[in-house]
Amino acid sequence: MKLLEERILKDGILAEGDVLKVDCFLNHLMDVKLFHEMGMEFKRLFADKPINKILTIEASGIGIACVVAECFDVPVLFAKKAQSVNLSGEVYTTKVESFTHKRTYDVMVSKKFIGPQDHVLIVDDFLANGCALQGLIELVEAAGATVEGIGICIEKGFQQGGKKIRDMGIQLESLAIVDAMNPETGEIRFREQ
Ligand code: 5GP
Repeated sequence: MKLLEERILKDGILAEGDVLKVDCFLNHLMDVKLFHEMGMEFKRLFADKPINKILTIEASGIGIACVVAECFDVPVLFAKKAQSVNLSGEVYTTKVESFTHKRTYDVMVSKKFIGPQDHVLIVDDFLANGCALQGLIELVEAAGATVEGIGICIEKGFQQGGKKIRDMGIQLESLAIVDAMNPETGEIRFREQ
């Protein structure tokens, strides 16, 4: 998506450890008009899917997921990170290793809010190694719901997540795929889509 690529080139900052910082429009300060354009693009890309719920993970997925949910006219559920998981059986849980924080979290969703009747679009801001998405897919499967697709704002194509998810046969749509980035020169190269 040209608009997003241009914004990354204008405002993205390359940090150490293969991190692209876009906190001035995507995951700290949020440009909601841009989110709306991205939401409409996801709506177009998944037009043939019977999506009735958006699922994301806290915290940085929530902003974009809310706007996408409005475009699809469906509710959004976010997986919560928990220090210790409530074992009462009322939640589905899994573990996710955080790329940015280098630690493992338990994440959970309430059984009240997802079940076999649900056709889910998973949405997140970034895709790196795919751990966050794998955790979300596990939660959907544990609930007996269906993953209809995954929508990502920025995929780092030089990391493994995109290949892992596409090899699972899931429709994965990333609005910008960064194939190379060089923190020394500031150069960012996008995949032609
Ligand atoms: P993964 O689980 O695919 O390795 O990483 C995805 C998660 O890590 C995303 O939810 C996102 O919050 C965070 N993340 C991964 N790479 C980056 C990055 O380059 N920049 C930012 N801002 N977040 C990232």
